[in-house]
Amino acid sequence: MLTDFDDTAAVQNVAELLLRQFGHPSWTEVRERFRAGELSLKDYQEITFLQMPADKSAMQAHVRAQAGFRPHFAELWQFCQDNAIPMCIVSQGLDFYIQALLDGSGQPELPVYAVATRFDERGRIAGYGYDFAYPDAPELGNSKALIVQRFRERGHHVFYVGDGRSDFEAGAVADTVFAHRQMASMCDAAGIPYHPFTDFGPVLAAVREYANGI
Ligand SMILES: [Mg+2]
Repeated sequence: MLTDFDDTAAVQNVAELLLRQFGHPSWTEVRERFRAGELSLKDYQEITFLQMPADKSAMQAHVRAQAGFRPHFAELWQFCQDNAIPMCIVSQGLDFYIQALLDGSGQPELPVYAVATRFDERGRIAGYGYDFAYPDAPELGNSKALIVQRFRERGHHVFYVGDGRSDFEAGAVADTVFAHRQMASMCDAAGIPYHPFTDFGPVLAAVREYANGI
């Protein structure tokens, strides 16, 4: 059971929540260049977060105060734990802000595949690590499809939940897809079947039905 984080597991785009609060004034210009296709998501994120003057603890406190998971997310995590079904967050975002929301929501143990953020001694962002990139395409950063494939190779039926461009490649190789926003449009265009969602109720129902059937 794999899910994206920003705008999917989380109600908000938590990266933008942080940029709006703490970002250098030029961050929206960098976002425009990303939206125009001049920058990759990886470059957009690296540039804007390296310019961030805030420290880790201030950013994490802001996430805990302002962000939240969609309804039934916690129930899905509980169901997966009770039934020994692996569940992970798979994100192109930064690990420290995802962990802040998990810690603040009482799910600190939920595994996360995300960008590994390095901090300097003052708590400012100093660099990034990409631990699950395709070896022949490191410039793309982490690949969500790679994670999906790893779970499929271990014999799991992969449920994938997402909203964005980087989720589409994962959905294309997953077994059951839940999509909204841009990912839903891309699935429509490519003829990939998916279930729409606004919260994790239908995801929980589908995972439960699958678990009861095997
Ligand atoms: Mg997203």
